[in-house]
Amino acid sequence: MTDAYTKLMERVKDIGRLSCVEQLLDWDQQVYMPSGGANARAELSALIAGMAHEKLVADETGTLLGDVQTVEGDFVVETNMRETRRAFERASKVPTELVKEIAYTSALTKEAWAKAREESDFGKFAPHLEKLLDLKKQVAEHIGYETEAYDALMDEFEPGAEAAEIENVFSNLRSATVALLERLGSSTTKPDRSILTRHFPRAQQEVLSRRMSESLGFDYKSGRIDVTVHPFCTTIGGPSDIRITTRYMENFLSGALFGTLHETGHALYEQGLPAEHLFTPMGQYVSLGIHESQSRMWENLVGRSRPFWQCHWEQVKAMFPEALGDVSLDEFYGAINAVRPSFIRVEADELTYNMHIILRFEIERALFTGELAVVDIPAAWNDKMQELLGVTPPNDREGCLQDIHWSMGIFGYFPTYALGNLYAAQFFAKAKEDIPDLFERIAGNDHTPLLDWLRANIHQHGRRYRANELVEVVTGKPLSIAPFVDYATEKFSAIYGV
Ligand code: ZN
Repeated sequence: MTDAYTKLMERVKDIGRLSCVEQLLDWDQQVYMPSGGANARAELSALIAGMAHEKLVADETGTLLGDVQTVEGDFVVETNMRETRRAFERASKVPTELVKEIAYTSALTKEAWAKAREESDFGKFAPHLEKLLDLKKQVAEHIGYETEAYDALMDEFEPGAEAAEIENVFSNLRSATVALLERLGSSTTKPDRSILTRHFPRAQQEVLSRRMSESLGFDYKSGRIDVTVHPFCTTIGGPSDIRITTRYMENFLSGALFGTLHETGHALYEQGLPAEHLFTPMGQYVSLGIHESQSRMWENLVGRSRPFWQCHWEQVKAMFPEALGDVSLDEFYGAINAVRPSFIRVEADELTYNMHIILRFEIERALFTGELAVVDIPAAWNDKMQELLGVTPPNDREGCLQDIHWSMGIFGYFPTYALGNLYAAQFFAKAKEDIPDLFERIAGNDHTPLLDWLRANIHQHGRRYRANELVEVVTGKPLSIAPFVDYATEKFSAIYGV
């Protein structure tokens, strides 16, 4: 390859390395840092974010981008050039001072959020959020957009996505969900979810989390699992150092169990990205929607399937004899799949989950058009919960303060969660076609056929394709809500006997 390309990639790798340092600081803040460290941590985060940004937008990056002669047909070079150019153009529009101010402000806002959430006091969080929202609005204006400011931010997480298009997808998804919820509501079968709120000792849950993640294929030589307030997965050094986090509640088994399966799904994607392209776009995930398709697939399409529990049930029952001793496999399978409107997104069932996303999407969009003010978020939140799910949270802790995203200045991210559910169902339908005995293998605790399929069809491509292209390449069709609706209809009709 040309000298200019090699030089450019060294630069890109340094930016990737700096971003890993930033992630390490964030991981530490969320897992280990004493709360007294917040101010100093904000300064460290701002410094690293500023360095990465300056390196990216430097004149030298622009010059090298212009100097590289691309050879047509080399998709590695094409991908790296396309994505580097995109990142450069996006970042060049945003002043470094603004990037640093956001990193600094969000590090402090995260702490304010954790405190406000603990005390269920939105008033304490609101001034911080207002500041951060204002900064992100400035970012959107700098980047520019065709229709609405929100698009400029969403593009960071799901390149090419537009709010108007997403609104369309969500509106169809909402109608299909409401129709299915009505059908299930007419059933006399009511799975008993309370089984999961019995007493589950934390020490046993920790053993279970580790065992489950290992059984899916998470490699602990290249990863860790730790405890945090808001579970996440992050990479510190590409596929060889992946950190997942979870949280344990002794009166709720699903939180850590399915949270761990979910984060393991993210981790398996990261561990499967091509290591030879470490720190360059070819070695990175496609989009957050695609990332989420991996976590939701393992959590739900595998982890909440009957074959999966056929295999794990006896072992789990033996681990929690007091809580599960009198429970049958069918009762447990019903409990983990009970459909019921609830307050907390991350604990929602597969069907109502998307409603939580639609709510956040609508609120975020209104914040960016100016139709909604930060102080009015709690009221808007509760109104929408009533409208979409028919329930009203008893307090803000279980309402608008539950998610960490806004405190990190992350707006436009939530839609990727519902997109992830849709991608997951579409990919999984294809995997089932390609692996006829997929469920028999899952029932035999053999997850390699699915993992190998994901590695070959999705992970190994890095960022070669955009999300919409990847879906077509893998499944032969553009993204559609149909596979998800078909999957949910078949599964929940059987459970509810309708
Ligand atoms: Zn996720």
